[in-house]
Amino acid sequence: MHIYFTIFFFVFGTIIGSFLNVVLYRFNTGKTLMGRSRCFSCRRNLSPIDLVPVLSYISFGGKCRTCKSRISIQYPLVELATGILFAGSYMLFSPVLEASPTMFLIQFVYTLIIMSLLVLITVYDMRHKIIPDMFVFTFIGLSFSTLFLGFDSFGNILFRIPDLLQLASGFILAFPFYFLWLISDGRWMGFGDAKLAVGFGWFLGLSSGATAIVLGFWIGAAVSLLLLGMGYLSKQYAHKKVLGMKVPHLSLKSEVPFAPFLIAGLLIVFFFRYNLFESFAYLI
Ligand SMILES: [Zn+2]
Repeated sequence: MHIYFTIFFFVFGTIIGSFLNVVLYRFNTGKTLMGRSRCFSCRRNLSPIDLVPVLSYISFGGKCRTCKSRISIQYPLVELATGILFAGSYMLFSPVLEASPTMFLIQFVYTLIIMSLLVLITVYDMRHKIIPDMFVFTFIGLSFSTLFLGFDSFGNILFRIPDLLQLASGFILAFPFYFLWLISDGRWMGFGDAKLAVGFGWFLGLSSGATAIVLGFWIGAAVSLLLLGMGYLSKQYAHKKVLGMKVPHLSLKSEVPFAPFLIAGLLIVFFFRYNLFESFAYLI
C-alpha cells in the first residue's frame, strides 16, 4: 500500500510541477494563470498529449511536435523535482498517518505547499536572480504560523505560545545576510536571501536552520569552485577540440543566485533530519 501512495504522490507532484512551470513563466508578465498553454515559437495551442508531465518531453525529444523548436529542459526538471519532493514528503510523514490521520493531513499538506514555494523560489532566482516578495513572504508567513500550532498526544491540533528564542530565530538567522547585504551594498548578498533566511529560522528552528545555511554555503562554495575550475580549463582549451567537440568558453558570472544553494541545504536538513550542531555536540 505504502509504495502505491508514494508513486501516487510522485505523479501528483509532477502535475503540480507542471502548474508551477506555468506560474514561473507567467509571473510578472501580466498574464493570468487561466488560458491554454501555447508553443512559444509557433503559437499552437498545446493539446493534452503535449502536457503530460515529464513523459511528453521525453517522447517528443524535447521539441514541439509541430515546429520542432526546442523546449526548455526547465519543464521536465521542475516536474520531476516536484514529484520527488512530494513523494519524499509522503515517505517522511507516513509514520504519522498511522498514529493520527488529522495530524498527518495537516503536516503533509503544509509541507507540500512549502515544497512548491521552494521550487518557485529556486527556479525564479536561477532565471531572474531575484526572489519575488510574493513567494518569499508566503513562505515566511507559513513558517511563522506553525510556531503557534502544536498537537496533543491524540493528534488534535493545539494553539501554543512560542518561546522568545523560537520567535527570534528567524531574525537571528537573517542577521548575517542582512549584514553582508548592508556592507557590500547588495553586491555579495541580495536582500532576498536575508528574507529567505527569516523563513528558514521559523520553518526549521534555530539550530537546524543554521545547519541548512551552513550547508548552503558549503554547497555554494563547492559549485563556485567547480565553475571556476571549468572556466579555467575552458580558457586553456578554448577553440581546441577535445574528443571531437569544441570546448565552450565558460566564465563565472559575477552574480550567482544563492537561494538554490540555501534551499538545497534546507532540503538536506528537512528530509534527512541532519543537524550539524547535534553531530558535533559530543565535542563540546
Ligand atoms: Zn511549436
